[in-house]
Amino acid sequence: MKLFKSKYKFNPDTLQYEKIKFSFKRFILRLLPHSIASAVFGAVLMVAYILIFDSPEEQLLRSENKYLKENLAKINERLKVNDSILDNIAERDNYIYRTTFEQDTIPYTIRNAGVGGGDRYKHLDGYESTEIVKNVSMKLDQIENKLNIQSLSYNEIITELKKKEKIFHSLPVLQPIQTNELTRIGSFYGYRPHPILGVVQMHTGLDLVAPSGTPVYAAGDGTIAGIERNNTRSGYGNSIVVDHGVNGLSTRYAHLSSIEVKEGQKVKRGELIGKVGSTGLSTAPHLHFEIMIYGATINPLRYMITPTADEYEQIIKLAEYPGVSFD
Ligand SMILES: [Zn+2]
Repeated sequence: MKLFKSKYKFNPDTLQYEKIKFSFKRFILRLLPHSIASAVFGAVLMVAYILIFDSPEEQLLRSENKYLKENLAKINERLKVNDSILDNIAERDNYIYRTTFEQDTIPYTIRNAGVGGGDRYKHLDGYESTEIVKNVSMKLDQIENKLNIQSLSYNEIITELKKKEKIFHSLPVLQPIQTNELTRIGSFYGYRPHPILGVVQMHTGLDLVAPSGTPVYAAGDGTIAGIERNNTRSGYGNSIVVDHGVNGLSTRYAHLSSIEVKEGQKVKRGELIGKVGSTGLSTAPHLHFEIMIYGATINPLRYMITPTADEYEQIIKLAEYPGVSFD
């Protein structure tokens, strides 16, 4: 079969049918509309197919996308719950812990402070899941911020607690003679006729009467700031001064028969420092006990606590164990 059929055209001049010469150009021009139509039809079919039917990969991605979005929404809900738990902790922190330890409350405006402008999440723009991813990111940032502030707040409280712990341990509140060894209080703080000199004088401490050799304990934690050894019948006789290192507080223990510590030594409340005697200007064995604030005496009864005999035993035992202190 011939590929191209010969074509003839009637020539009115010659009155004959003449064979038309084959032209490739004409052939192409004739074929073109058919080709375009087929191509367009094919493309339309393809698009329709793509629109109607997903490829297996697309189906997989679509279901994975759905799964991720659903789970992100669940995570977002859980973050919201955790965020409100943190708010609750923050409230307790402000109104219980910080208030108890005399710290200013941390304003919620600071606790809930934003973690940057809207630009921070700009890189998340432009996707179908942008909103949920943004929400999760923002909640996470918020929670991270609150946790950081909470952690700093607790650090502050612990530091304060350690300071307070040191102050509490240092306050010279312990009666320096064990309760069941104290015979009586011989003389109070204030003006009184001096037992030896006979003239009215200021008595700058408290006289705790006990037999000679009775242990004398430090009234609070501190450092031995001064030791005086004096066997003449004048003044404080053998005496110890303890510097408690807080609020200018120091204590003096006078008329001792023996001194059991060295200058500069650190002592704890309830630690043995000396023994009752009658050295210096004294008529009978007793402990002359002074509490001073920046060197000026105050009435020791304003500070002194008299524990029961059992409690006293426990305080002495505590003082014997090293490392009970908070730091
Ligand atoms: Zn005295």
